[in-house]
Amino acid sequence: MNNLTIVMYHYVRPIKDSKFPGIKGLELDGFKRQLDYLSENFSIVTTEEVISAAKYSKPLPESACWLTFDDGYKEHFEYVMPELLKRNLHAAFFPPRVAIEENQVLDVNLIHHILSSADNIDQLVTSLNSHCIVHGISDSQLGEFYKEYAIPNRYDNADTIYVKRMLQHVLPEQLRTTIAHEMFQEFVGLSAAEFSSELYMSVEEVRELVCNGMYVGSHGSMHYWLDKITPEEQEKDIKQSLKFLDIVGASTKDWVMCYPYGAHNDDTIELLKRFGAALGITTEVRVANLTTDNPFKLPRLNTNDFPQ
Ligand SMILES: [Zn+2]
Repeated sequence: MNNLTIVMYHYVRPIKDSKFPGIKGLELDGFKRQLDYLSENFSIVTTEEVISAAKYSKPLPESACWLTFDDGYKEHFEYVMPELLKRNLHAAFFPPRVAIEENQVLDVNLIHHILSSADNIDQLVTSLNSHCIVHGISDSQLGEFYKEYAIPNRYDNADTIYVKRMLQHVLPEQLRTTIAHEMFQEFVGLSAAEFSSELYMSVEEVRELVCNGMYVGSHGSMHYWLDKITPEEQEKDIKQSLKFLDIVGASTKDWVMCYPYGAHNDDTIELLKRFGAALGITTEVRVANLTTDNPFKLPRLNTNDFPQ
């Protein structure tokens, strides 16, 4: 069998009382209930057990479940780790280097906080389009982008996806970062630099995760969509992320790659093999099977797929 339920977490925080009550994330109380539910109904496994199962065909326990936390949020250190330790549970954490070491805010987080701070989505589409026009994008080009990218998914409506995709990867890198920072200042009223140290763990806090028996793996250096950059750029990004793992005291032997946005291609997998990775985890939504699945394309379920 060797089925493995991999659960993906992002924000876990007391949301209602926070500065960003509109943020889509998991309420801390719901997280605590979910941990109790998962530990009653599954065997929570360690990352080392998952690696042994994938690499050396060592069978997993029945109803194996692996907890994974993306993006290096400070709340993972502040709230998640203590709840795990209280229950004697293990989890894997995937902080992107640039957010932890360079105090930058990932575009994805700028975008979430912009989305949660605006009164409505029309306001954001209007603001985004006018920023684009100021920076030389034509009306007709914007129309084309809308037609191509405003496609709703299981989480978001068409306009929200349009804003996300434009700022995630449609606009050229420098321009989308500039516009995301402008819109962040406009809607959130904070500079991104001020915000970064509130949002992410410090290097020291990531080290403490490792010291407390948690697994820390790669989530890339710059949090790129790896399938949208060249193999050379991918190689540089992966190498930098491994240096970071070394700095925080995490293992770089049989390590785990958590692809930002789940995005990867054949070149990524070749590079991972070359640099000694054991596993790659994606955002494809289903239960994994370590006997039949490609270990570099493991699917995950979302926290929302379980009771909270
Ligand atoms: Zn991420």
